[in-house]
Amino acid sequence: MDDIEARRHQMVQSQIAARGLGEQRLLAAFEATPRHLFVPPKLRHLAYADRPLPIGHGQTISQPYIVALMTSMLELQGTERVLDIGTGSGYQAAILARMCQEVHTVELVPELAESAGNLLRELGLGNVHCHVGDGSLGWAGAAPYSGIVVTAAAPHVPQPLLDQLAEGGRLVIPVGAQREQVLEAWDRRRDQFIRRAVTGVRFVPLRGRHGWSGKFRGV
Ligand code: SAH
Repeated sequence: MDDIEARRHQMVQSQIAARGLGEQRLLAAFEATPRHLFVPPKLRHLAYADRPLPIGHGQTISQPYIVALMTSMLELQGTERVLDIGTGSGYQAAILARMCQEVHTVELVPELAESAGNLLRELGLGNVHCHVGDGSLGWAGAAPYSGIVVTAAAPHVPQPLLDQLAEGGRLVIPVGAQREQVLEAWDRRRDQFIRRAVTGVRFVPLRGRHGWSGKFRGV
Protein backbone atom coordinates (compact mmCIF):
# COMPACT_ATOMS: atom_id res chain seq x y z
CA MET A 1 0.00 0.00 0.00
CA ASP A 2 1.62 3.31 -0.94
CA ASP A 3 1.68 6.36 1.27
CA ILE A 4 -1.34 8.00 -0.37
CA GLU A 5 -3.48 4.89 -0.06
CA ALA A 6 -2.43 4.50 3.55
CA ARG A 7 -3.45 8.08 4.30
CA ARG A 8 -6.76 7.56 2.54
CA HIS A 9 -7.42 4.40 4.52
CA GLN A 10 -6.58 6.25 7.73
CA MET A 11 -9.01 9.03 6.74
CA VAL A 12 -11.80 6.52 6.09
CA GLN A 13 -11.25 4.74 9.40
CA SER A 14 -10.69 7.68 11.73
CA GLN A 15 -12.88 10.39 10.20
CA ILE A 16 -15.79 8.35 8.81
CA ALA A 17 -16.08 4.84 10.29
CA ALA A 18 -15.04 5.87 13.81
CA ARG A 19 -17.68 8.62 13.78
CA GLY A 20 -20.48 6.16 13.19
CA LEU A 21 -20.77 6.00 9.40
CA GLY A 22 -19.80 2.37 8.95
CA GLU A 23 -21.79 1.22 5.94
CA GLN A 24 -19.53 -0.96 3.77
CA ARG A 25 -20.55 0.52 0.41
CA LEU A 26 -19.96 4.03 1.73
CA LEU A 27 -16.50 3.22 3.09
CA ALA A 28 -15.60 1.41 -0.15
CA ALA A 29 -16.59 4.47 -2.20
CA PHE A 30 -14.24 6.66 -0.15
CA GLU A 31 -11.41 4.09 -0.36
CA ALA A 32 -11.80 4.01 -4.14
CA THR A 33 -11.85 7.79 -4.68
CA PRO A 34 -8.47 9.58 -4.92
CA ARG A 35 -9.33 12.78 -3.04
CA HIS A 36 -5.82 14.18 -3.65
CA LEU A 37 -6.70 14.57 -7.35
CA PHE A 38 -9.71 16.76 -6.45
CA VAL A 39 -7.69 19.42 -4.60
CA PRO A 40 -5.25 21.94 -6.08
CA PRO A 41 -1.72 20.45 -6.51
CA LYS A 42 -0.32 22.84 -3.88
CA LEU A 43 -2.69 21.44 -1.23
CA ARG A 44 -2.25 17.74 -2.00
CA HIS A 45 -0.42 17.13 1.26
CA LEU A 46 -3.65 18.16 3.04
CA ALA A 47 -6.02 16.16 0.83
CA TYR A 48 -6.75 13.55 3.51
CA ALA A 49 -6.92 15.98 6.42
CA ASP A 50 -10.07 16.38 8.52
CA ARG A 51 -11.10 19.71 6.99
CA PRO A 52 -12.49 21.48 3.94
CA LEU A 53 -9.97 22.95 1.46
CA PRO A 54 -10.07 25.84 -1.01
CA ILE A 55 -10.45 24.81 -4.67
CA GLY A 56 -10.29 28.26 -6.30
CA HIS A 57 -13.02 30.70 -7.36
CA GLY A 58 -13.74 31.30 -3.66
CA GLN A 59 -15.12 27.75 -3.32
CA THR A 60 -14.24 24.76 -1.15
CA ILE A 61 -14.22 20.97 -1.23
CA SER A 62 -16.12 19.85 1.88
CA GLN A 63 -14.59 18.04 4.84
CA PRO A 64 -14.61 14.26 4.12
CA TYR A 65 -16.93 13.53 7.06
CA ILE A 66 -19.54 15.98 5.79
CA VAL A 67 -19.44 14.40 2.32
CA ALA A 68 -19.91 11.01 3.99
CA LEU A 69 -22.73 12.25 6.21
CA MET A 70 -24.68 13.83 3.34
CA THR A 71 -24.18 10.75 1.18
CA SER A 72 -25.29 8.37 3.92
CA MET A 73 -28.40 10.49 4.54
CA LEU A 74 -29.55 9.56 1.01
CA GLU A 75 -29.60 5.86 2.01
CA LEU A 76 -28.62 4.80 -1.52
CA GLN A 77 -29.18 1.20 -2.63
CA GLY A 78 -27.40 1.45 -5.98
CA THR A 79 -30.31 1.83 -8.39
CA GLU A 80 -31.11 5.51 -7.96
CA ARG A 81 -30.76 8.63 -10.10
CA VAL A 82 -29.29 11.40 -7.95
CA LEU A 83 -28.92 15.15 -8.44
CA ASP A 84 -25.85 16.92 -6.95
CA ILE A 85 -25.98 20.73 -6.81
CA GLY A 86 -22.61 22.54 -6.64
CA THR A 87 -20.16 20.25 -8.47
CA GLY A 88 -17.11 22.19 -7.23
CA SER A 89 -14.15 19.79 -7.43
CA GLY A 90 -16.44 16.88 -8.37
CA TYR A 91 -15.54 14.88 -5.24
CA GLN A 92 -19.08 14.55 -3.89
CA ALA A 93 -20.26 13.54 -7.38
CA ALA A 94 -17.50 10.89 -7.58
CA ILE A 95 -18.57 9.36 -4.26
CA LEU A 96 -22.23 9.36 -5.35
CA ALA A 97 -21.27 7.80 -8.68
CA ARG A 98 -19.98 4.72 -6.88
CA MET A 99 -23.15 4.37 -4.83
CA CYS A 100 -26.02 4.85 -7.27
CA GLN A 101 -26.95 4.33 -10.90
CA GLU A 102 -26.68 7.80 -12.37
CA VAL A 103 -25.57 11.22 -11.12
CA HIS A 104 -26.45 14.61 -12.56
CA THR A 105 -24.34 17.40 -11.15
CA VAL A 106 -24.82 21.13 -11.73
CA GLU A 107 -22.19 23.86 -11.28
CA LEU A 108 -22.53 27.60 -11.78
CA VAL A 109 -18.83 28.33 -12.47
CA PRO A 110 -17.96 26.97 -15.94
CA GLU A 111 -14.23 26.53 -15.16
CA LEU A 112 -14.99 24.36 -12.12
CA ALA A 113 -17.52 22.32 -14.09
CA GLU A 114 -14.99 21.73 -16.84
CA SER A 115 -12.12 20.59 -14.64
CA ALA A 116 -14.43 18.40 -12.54
CA GLY A 117 -15.90 16.88 -15.70
CA ASN A 118 -12.44 16.11 -17.06
CA LEU A 119 -11.31 14.47 -13.84
CA LEU A 120 -14.48 12.38 -13.49
CA ARG A 121 -14.01 11.17 -17.07
CA GLU A 122 -10.34 10.34 -16.45
CA LEU A 123 -11.40 8.29 -13.44
CA GLY A 124 -13.81 6.37 -15.67
CA LEU A 125 -16.92 7.51 -13.81
CA GLY A 126 -19.10 7.49 -16.90
CA ASN A 127 -22.37 7.58 -14.95
CA VAL A 128 -21.83 11.22 -13.90
CA HIS A 129 -23.36 13.87 -16.14
CA CYS A 130 -21.95 17.38 -15.58
CA HIS A 131 -24.04 20.43 -16.36
CA VAL A 132 -23.28 24.15 -16.18
CA GLY A 133 -26.12 26.26 -14.84
CA ASP A 134 -28.04 27.60 -11.88
CA GLY A 135 -28.59 24.53 -9.72
CA SER A 136 -31.02 26.41 -7.47
CA LEU A 137 -33.42 25.60 -10.31
CA GLY A 138 -32.46 21.92 -10.14
CA TRP A 139 -31.97 20.06 -13.41
CA ALA A 140 -35.37 19.42 -14.91
CA GLY A 141 -33.98 17.44 -17.84
CA ALA A 142 -33.42 14.26 -15.83
CA ALA A 143 -36.03 14.70 -13.05
CA PRO A 144 -37.41 13.15 -10.92
CA TYR A 145 -34.56 12.14 -8.61
CA SER A 146 -34.56 9.64 -5.75
CA GLY A 147 -31.98 11.77 -4.01
CA ILE A 148 -30.87 15.40 -4.25
CA VAL A 149 -27.85 16.76 -2.40
CA VAL A 150 -26.98 20.46 -2.27
CA THR A 151 -23.42 21.32 -1.20
CA ALA A 152 -23.88 25.08 -0.91
CA ALA A 153 -25.91 26.92 1.73
CA ALA A 154 -29.39 28.08 0.77
CA PRO A 155 -31.38 30.86 2.46
CA HIS A 156 -34.47 28.66 2.04
CA VAL A 157 -35.27 25.36 0.31
CA PRO A 158 -35.60 26.03 -3.43
CA GLN A 159 -39.07 24.96 -4.58
CA PRO A 160 -37.78 23.49 -7.89
CA LEU A 161 -35.70 20.97 -5.91
CA LEU A 162 -38.78 19.80 -4.00
CA ASP A 163 -40.69 19.61 -7.29
CA GLN A 164 -37.94 17.44 -8.86
CA LEU A 165 -37.89 14.94 -6.00
CA ALA A 166 -39.40 11.53 -6.80
CA GLU A 167 -42.10 10.02 -4.59
CA GLY A 168 -40.24 8.52 -1.63
CA GLY A 169 -37.15 10.58 -2.45
CA ARG A 170 -35.01 12.69 -0.12
CA LEU A 171 -33.41 16.13 -0.45
CA VAL A 172 -30.36 16.89 1.73
CA ILE A 173 -29.51 20.59 1.97
CA PRO A 174 -27.86 23.10 4.33
CA VAL A 175 -30.35 25.89 5.08
CA GLY A 176 -29.86 29.04 7.10
CA ALA A 177 -27.80 32.19 7.42
CA GLN A 178 -24.66 33.17 5.53
CA ARG A 179 -22.25 32.00 8.24
CA GLU A 180 -23.94 28.93 9.67
CA GLN A 181 -26.68 26.60 8.64
CA VAL A 182 -28.59 23.48 9.61
CA LEU A 183 -28.30 20.37 7.49
CA GLU A 184 -31.87 19.37 6.64
CA ALA A 185 -33.42 16.26 5.11
CA TRP A 186 -36.72 16.65 3.23
CA ASP A 187 -38.64 13.46 2.46
CA ARG A 188 -41.34 13.40 -0.19
CA ARG A 189 -44.44 11.34 0.62
CA ARG A 190 -46.86 11.97 -2.27
CA ASP A 191 -47.27 15.74 -2.18
CA GLN A 192 -46.25 16.10 1.43
CA PHE A 193 -42.77 16.98 2.58
CA ILE A 194 -41.41 15.92 5.95
CA ARG A 195 -38.50 17.97 7.22
CA ARG A 196 -35.83 16.80 9.66
CA ALA A 197 -32.94 18.91 11.00
CA VAL A 198 -29.73 16.93 11.45
CA THR A 199 -26.76 19.05 12.53
CA GLY A 200 -25.11 22.45 12.31
CA VAL A 201 -22.84 23.03 9.29
CA ARG A 202 -20.96 25.77 7.43
CA PHE A 203 -21.09 25.89 3.66
CA VAL A 204 -20.26 28.47 1.03
CA PRO A 205 -23.38 30.26 -0.23
CA LEU A 206 -25.68 28.92 -2.91
CA ARG A 207 -26.11 31.61 -5.51
CA GLY A 208 -28.63 31.85 -8.34
CA ARG A 209 -32.37 32.45 -8.46
CA HIS A 210 -33.24 30.64 -5.21
CA GLY A 211 -29.90 31.33 -3.55
CA TRP A 212 -28.16 34.40 -2.19
CA SER A 213 -27.95 36.05 -5.60
CA GLY A 214 -26.63 39.59 -5.48
CA LYS A 215 -25.90 39.44 -1.76
CA PHE A 216 -22.37 38.12 -2.26
CA ARG A 217 -19.43 39.09 -4.39
CA GLY A 218 -18.87 36.97 -7.47
CA VAL A 219 -21.43 35.59 -9.90
N1 SAH B 1 -19.52 19.43 -3.76
C1 SAH B 1 -18.29 20.14 -4.01
C2 SAH B 1 -18.09 21.33 -3.11
C3 SAH B 1 -19.02 22.38 -3.40
S1 SAH B 1 -18.62 24.02 -2.90
C4 SAH B 1 -17.10 19.24 -3.93
O1 SAH B 1 -17.28 18.04 -3.66
O2 SAH B 1 -15.99 19.71 -4.19
C5 SAH B 1 -20.09 24.75 -3.52
C6 SAH B 1 -20.16 24.82 -5.02
O3 SAH B 1 -21.45 25.28 -5.35
C7 SAH B 1 -19.18 25.81 -5.64
O4 SAH B 1 -18.42 25.20 -6.62
C8 SAH B 1 -20.09 26.90 -6.22
O5 SAH B 1 -19.59 27.49 -7.40
C9 SAH B 1 -21.36 26.11 -6.49
N2 SAH B 1 -22.58 26.89 -6.60
C10 SAH B 1 -22.99 27.96 -5.86
N3 SAH B 1 -24.21 28.34 -6.24
C11 SAH B 1 -24.59 27.51 -7.24
C12 SAH B 1 -25.77 27.41 -8.04
N4 SAH B 1 -26.82 28.22 -7.91
N5 SAH B 1 -25.81 26.42 -8.97
C13 SAH B 1 -24.79 25.56 -9.12
N6 SAH B 1 -23.66 25.60 -8.40
C14 SAH B 1 -23.57 26.57 -7.46
